[in-house]
Amino acid sequence: MNYLRNLFLKKQPVVMQSIAEAMQRKDDFTFKNYFLLYACPLCGAPPALSGYGQSILWIALKCINDKEAISFCDSCEQHFRIPAAIFAEGILCELTEVSQIPGDQLYNYVKAKYVETNTQLNLLHTGWYDFLIEANANGPVDVMAMTWNPKDECPLCGRRPYRPIGFSYACPNCMNEINIAQEDIDPELGVRVICNHCMKTHYVPPTVWCPKCHRSLFHYYSILRRIAKANGVNFEQLRLKKNEAG
Ligand SMILES: [Zn+2]
Ligand SMILES: [Zn+2]
Ligand SMILES: [Zn+2]
Repeated sequence: MNYLRNLFLKKQPVVMQSIAEAMQRKDDFTFKNYFLLYACPLCGAPPALSGYGQSILWIALKCINDKEAISFCDSCEQHFRIPAAIFAEGILCELTEVSQIPGDQLYNYVKAKYVETNTQLNLLHTGWYDFLIEANANGPVDVMAMTWNPKDECPLCGRRPYRPIGFSYACPNCMNEINIAQEDIDPELGVRVICNHCMKTHYVPPTVWCPKCHRSLFHYYSILRRIAKANGVNFEQLRLKKNEAG
């Protein structure tokens, strides 16, 4: 199913065009403090719906340990590789040395040297976005087929075991904020939610659970998309604008 969907996405000329556009615009991509903003290398969608890309520290630590980071696109719901090659020469060695100093020095180091001086681009190779595109030329990472140790974070939702989460969204009927905890959502049946503002009910489907680990919820915007579909409303209607400022 996923495979077919990916093939379908790859065949869409409009998608390829937007990647080409994204590549032309790559000089516009910037950092927002620690967060690297860029278009998805698979579908070309602009930076994550939340307005953030990934923390450069998170990417660097993954690349130091695993030679690559695997990230998720909120728009096409596919996983892609961020190769260690995106970093400028010597940067990963520099960051590795700092990360070995006792105490949590890496954050402060990057803050003082790169974030406060607004020179975060020095962390990256000048051809970093081309490397990102190249690393994903064969399509998305098939995370569902990946083996993993359940003691670690799930490769699909990125969550660690025994960390129940909750989330909030706008009521599909009245836009009032709804808060819900994962333990309130039956993994097989979902749950009917009564909004205490408009007193109408809506449905949170069981597909909001991560299909890989079944122990935590899916990514936030994927959850909202599934609730929107189950209630026949537009995804945008469920977004809480206050969470997305900045
Ligand atoms: Zn995408
Ligand atoms: Zn998971
Ligand atoms: Zn309501």
